[in-house]
Amino acid sequence: MATEVLHQDAVTISGELAELRHAIHREPEIGLDLPRTQQKVLSALGGLPLEITPGRELSSVTAVLHGGKPGATVLLRGDMDALPVTERTGLPYSSQIDGAMHACGHDLHTAMLAGAARLLSARQQEIAGNVIFMFQPGEEGFAGARQMISEGVLDAAGDRPVAAFALHVTSSHLPRGVYSTRPGTMMAAADVFEVTVHGRGGHASQPHRAADPIPVACEIVTALQTMVTRKFDVFDPVVLTIGSFHAGTTDNVIPDEAKLLGSLRTFSTETRARVMDHATRLAGEIAAAHGLTATAGFPKGYPVTVNNEEEVSFAQRTVTELFGSGRCMTQPFPLTGAEDFSFVLEQVPGAFVMLGACPQGTDPATAAYNHSAEAAFDDAVLGDGAALYAELALRRLAAA
Ligand SMILES: [Zn+2]
Ligand SMILES: [Zn+2]
Repeated sequence: MATEVLHQDAVTISGELAELRHAIHREPEIGLDLPRTQQKVLSALGGLPLEITPGRELSSVTAVLHGGKPGATVLLRGDMDALPVTERTGLPYSSQIDGAMHACGHDLHTAMLAGAARLLSARQQEIAGNVIFMFQPGEEGFAGARQMISEGVLDAAGDRPVAAFALHVTSSHLPRGVYSTRPGTMMAAADVFEVTVHGRGGHASQPHRAADPIPVACEIVTALQTMVTRKFDVFDPVVLTIGSFHAGTTDNVIPDEAKLLGSLRTFSTETRARVMDHATRLAGEIAAAHGLTATAGFPKGYPVTVNNEEEVSFAQRTVTELFGSGRCMTQPFPLTGAEDFSFVLEQVPGAFVMLGACPQGTDPATAAYNHSAEAAFDDAVLGDGAALYAELALRRLAAA
């Protein structure tokens, strides 16, 4: 009964959530500094019984709802940032900013999370415990979640959350309104590999008087591929691509150094650590074998997104009870993309859940994918998404 009332309330506010979403969509902002988006979130939360803390080094919003009864804490996360893409959807509320677009649907996450804050605030007295609403900038490559953690989002309610949940819309591959998740690895880790081979420049006709970094860098590139196939289990995949190789200025000068940049994708925490170790050593030792040196490392990346098995079953049960059994899928494989919600899941058990939002009348199999200039997301999922966020918190706190 309570569930039906909450769902009904979510449907009632879905028009306002669509307006909020469109306002955010029209003015997309990229990275860690999203002042206009932050302002819209703060207005949407205005008047609610929330303890609000804006970020210090980024324009995040941490909002805490203290329930009427004591209890545990649950965290709900919605990311807020856009991408450097010029929109070509032709939608009436298209981006008004050239070169910026909500092509990953984070505008929907922000609106749904604001909706959940409203739904839960209206039930403050019956809530046993606290809810942290994590409105996060900088998901797309800026590790905004890690920064919010270092600014204290996980301790915002006093004690650590017992569970954390995030929804992510997709403009294709899932039918509209269908939720999909899986226990264990949900998404890949993505890391940047940087190598500099330090040699000694000289005349191209006198290589023995120089220390040429180019053949050494070439050897490193091929040895890395051998490493991937000889050292790692095919059922725990590793993808390592050197996408950038730069050295030298002209034909008759041996350069001082060669620089490589690569992208690493892994699907388990153990393998990620092993690849990092092996690849770094390999670069250094190949250089040393030729009397040169190399500095190598993985300066930035997102960890593997690992869902907790029990929190996934709980989320799937909640979806089924709220919306019916046809609305919930178990994803057969992890996604090859990466997510910085992984930083939260490293510390709090939880679940990352995908939600199909392809526009009515389009085929999810062929619709433009997230990050495309043509990616479109249907407002129709906003009410249900807000209801799911709210129910996940309510039910998880009741079970804690
Ligand atoms: Zn994205
Ligand atoms: Zn995204």
